[in-house]
Amino acid sequence: MCRNNNFYKKNFIFKIIHNDLKNKKYNFICTRFPPEPNGYLHIGHIKSICLNFSIAKFYGGNCFLRIDDTNPTTENIKYINSIKKDLIWLGFKWDHKIKYSSDYFDMIYKYAIELINKNLAYVDELSIQEIKSYRGTLSVPGKDSPYRNRSIKENLKLFHNMRLGNFSEGSMSLRAKIDMKSKIIIMRDPVLYRIKFQKHHQTGKKWCIYPTYDFCHCISDSIEGITHSLCTLEFQDNKILYNWILNNISVKNYPKQYEFSKLQIEYGITSKRNIRLLIKNKIVDGWDDPRLLTISGLRRKGYTALSLKNFCYRIGVTKQNNIIQLSYLEFCIKKELNQIAPRAMAILRPLKIIIDNFPVNKKIKLLIPNHPFNKNMGYRIIYFTKEIYIDILDFSEEEKKDYKRLILGKKVKLRYSFVIKANKVIKNSNGNIICVYCTYYQNTLGIKIDKKDQKIKGIIHWISCLNSQPVLFYLYKTLLKKKCINNTDNILSYINKKSLLIYNGFIEKNLLKEQKKKHFQFEREGYFYFDKKNSNKKQIIFNQILSFRS
Ligand code: ATP
Ligand code: MG
Repeated sequence: MCRNNNFYKKNFIFKIIHNDLKNKKYNFICTRFPPEPNGYLHIGHIKSICLNFSIAKFYGGNCFLRIDDTNPTTENIKYINSIKKDLIWLGFKWDHKIKYSSDYFDMIYKYAIELINKNLAYVDELSIQEIKSYRGTLSVPGKDSPYRNRSIKENLKLFHNMRLGNFSEGSMSLRAKIDMKSKIIIMRDPVLYRIKFQKHHQTGKKWCIYPTYDFCHCISDSIEGITHSLCTLEFQDNKILYNWILNNISVKNYPKQYEFSKLQIEYGITSKRNIRLLIKNKIVDGWDDPRLLTISGLRRKGYTALSLKNFCYRIGVTKQNNIIQLSYLEFCIKKELNQIAPRAMAILRPLKIIIDNFPVNKKIKLLIPNHPFNKNMGYRIIYFTKEIYIDILDFSEEEKKDYKRLILGKKVKLRYSFVIKANKVIKNSNGNIICVYCTYYQNTLGIKIDKKDQKIKGIIHWISCLNSQPVLFYLYKTLLKKKCINNTDNILSYINKKSLLIYNGFIEKNLLKEQKKKHFQFEREGYFYFDKKNSNKKQIIFNQILSFRS
């Protein structure tokens, strides 16, 4: 279990379950994580996964993975595979074999017939649009469908024919007969079954009618013996329908539903529908784009499973809707990487420095630590040579306020190396700096600089040109320009067009080989992660996890 589980345990759902077990309401608890396989999982799902799995584990109960697959039109086997992969990567193990709502289609069909037999369901011939307009609004009561009062016999016959495929898609549906005037709109004769001539990834061509999410969801929970059915706040009203359904069919188990608030993150998108929209509009290049808050995107960007779980444990579970600061998520990965990521030097925007007073063929070997506070992470060798790279942002021709880097005519210390002074700037015909000639001071290796000593401006990072490997650095900014988006907002109008910046730079040679790690803290730049997906023999790509520069 994660370190932060202790304060996580104080959440209201943990307390309810604790009391239910203490009061012997249950001897054994069962929870589930029920994703719809219509997209990849995102950080919001991790909140639900952590909650369901950690509660079941803590109390020695079961937690199932149920693929909620009632809509074959939008579902796909590749999403199921990604869900499995993400859960395993997070380190959670579901109990028993994977469950599918479609495993229960036969039973659900029988329950529908039970409702018809009790005169609690009817076959309607209104179109989808008509059903919508008959439904009314919060202030206008709904209207009964003209097909609402068919005989049980006729309903049974029509439903049977729906199943046989004798009617076209959209021409008929099975609806619960509840109350078209109910204050709760969801109770105005909700649709239970619709016709879809669509092959299903699990059941093939066996069915041409499919239960709706609401009808299927509560029955699946009951069949599996879920004791605590945990979901997000928007399902509060659905609970009333779930109870109606379960009370009117012959089931043994009545799961109790508890709702908690959805995870929302500043500038972030936690809706599969919106992520799909970004992919379709080629704003991101797939579900695992590192700018997305999908599990696969975060993983590719360099987030670890532990940091994401710790984040979810730290934010806790409440009924309060709130938006979490992005910096909080970054704090969690920073905390972990600060311990485990080796330090190294990388130059994102190279500027060549030529050391006037250093021989061409000479190189000085320097042994430097991989981690400033953890000697167990070892040391590595770098070289000081006549030509080195520094970052162009670390050089200025003029003195600037609080600028503690290399300035023309002034001195700076190179990290783990010598003090140098900038003497001359060479520019091309466009006025761009090509290189800077400097002097190095032989007796300055290893000296500590005195902050009050105005002569040496500061310490900057560098790489020997001889000891460098070209790489691409991908730097990410938020995808959205707006901090919080509402459900009604069109996210396409808030896209930050500069969310990806690519730099051609250098890292120390053989870094990946020698460190055998993929996470690095590139000194003074930030944390980076090797991009396995798009790197190859010809080009190495590093994704920036977070930046030290503001
Ligand atoms: P989306 O709006 O992204 O499609 P969803 O709720 O439709 O999300 P499901 O696949 O149905 O996605 O979700 C599986 C489980 O994850 C549900 O129990 C749902 O409540 C939970 N979940 C989804 N999004 C969040 C979120 N942002 N925060 C917490 N839990 C979430
Ligand atoms: Mg959904």
